[in-house]
Amino acid sequence: MKTATGTLVISNGRLLDGNGGTPCDHGCLVATDGLITYVGSAEAAPPVPADAVRIDAGGGTIMPGLVEAHFHPTYFNVAALEDLDIKYPVEYVTLLAACNAKLALECGYTSARSGGSLFNIDVWLKKAIENDLVPGPRLAASGREICGVGGLMDWNPDFRKIGMDGLVLLVNGPDEARSAVRKLVKDGVEWVKTYPTGDAAAPDVNDHHTLCMTFEEMHAVVQTAHNHSMKVTGHCRATEGIKNALRAGYDAIEHGTFMDDEALDLLLARDVPVVPALYFEKASVEHGPAIGMPQAVIDGHQETLEGGAESARKILAAGGRLGMGGDYGFAWNPHGDYAKELAFFVDYVGLAPLTVLTCATRTGAEILDRSHEIGTLEVGKLADVLVVDGDVATSIDLLTDRNTFIAVVQGGIVKAGRLATAR
Ligand SMILES: [Zn+2]
Repeated sequence: MKTATGTLVISNGRLLDGNGGTPCDHGCLVATDGLITYVGSAEAAPPVPADAVRIDAGGGTIMPGLVEAHFHPTYFNVAALEDLDIKYPVEYVTLLAACNAKLALECGYTSARSGGSLFNIDVWLKKAIENDLVPGPRLAASGREICGVGGLMDWNPDFRKIGMDGLVLLVNGPDEARSAVRKLVKDGVEWVKTYPTGDAAAPDVNDHHTLCMTFEEMHAVVQTAHNHSMKVTGHCRATEGIKNALRAGYDAIEHGTFMDDEALDLLLARDVPVVPALYFEKASVEHGPAIGMPQAVIDGHQETLEGGAESARKILAAGGRLGMGGDYGFAWNPHGDYAKELAFFVDYVGLAPLTVLTCATRTGAEILDRSHEIGTLEVGKLADVLVVDGDVATSIDLLTDRNTFIAVVQGGIVKAGRLATAR
């Protein structure tokens, strides 16, 4: 991805550096050739060349670009789960994924980690973004997900003979689990996404307390993935599934819904980050009745919502790490709503806004293993910066409205926001 040439100065705003400390009023950020060269008070800012590009934050906020840590670029606001793999051909879903990536950037997400994708679309989407062919977040790709046969993601009945190949590699036993990971190695995947447990969405046979992979399968996935320098994460709701994942050596946990004390100890022992992706549950409970969601599914989402919120609070209180991301891409939880996750963690879960912002920036960068480059506003890092009209530290919900962005800056280049539109 290209970075800017020349000097960029962003001033006249409250600066949040992403580390969670006290905001710097009258802040200023200077970037040279796309890299941050000064962050601090405007009074102490160094002199800059006369031809520097200047952005006036208008008394608003200067903060790091957001990291969407559980991004499904190929989910196209589907009304039913089955649509994810059969409604459109891969050619069309690729175009939809490119639109979703552009939208995510416009929403202030300058980086993202895929949480699973149809075929290899996210791998190639990443290449297109890196080559500046399409705008989007700096992406980490997951490709197809891995799930046990008969598990949550194995939903197409055998009589249809269409399998689940596009979205999921189905495995039976550790040998097939190894084989599935080896396929992903060739595909260019960085994060292997698995399904250790079920979900409230499938109350009859794969609910949120059901296991969908064995420990042996999960361990085989980790051994093979780590051998090839890939990381492993998984959809973990049931307590036993979380423990299996942590004991198998997972690098991150998605959801981490029902954590008990033992699971928390296992988590903290290796400082494994959790991405709760929890706003989806609230959206499902709220919109479920209107879209005809069965009551058992709504009840399951309610239980997940409460369990997940409790676990998230416990994890942070114990010194663990949370990343912010969500299952956006459903009709009732569409792309573009990503920052509702952040407002939800303040309003519903009860976390402090600056804590949530750190989860959504610094921790996100750590999950991507790119904290040396992105995630905070610090000298030497890439100038991935948001300039927001208003005080985000006191009104985090400003981030849910992309019209409040004065500028979304990636590598020192204004990619979205009012200043981009005005050109
Ligand atoms: Zn997901």
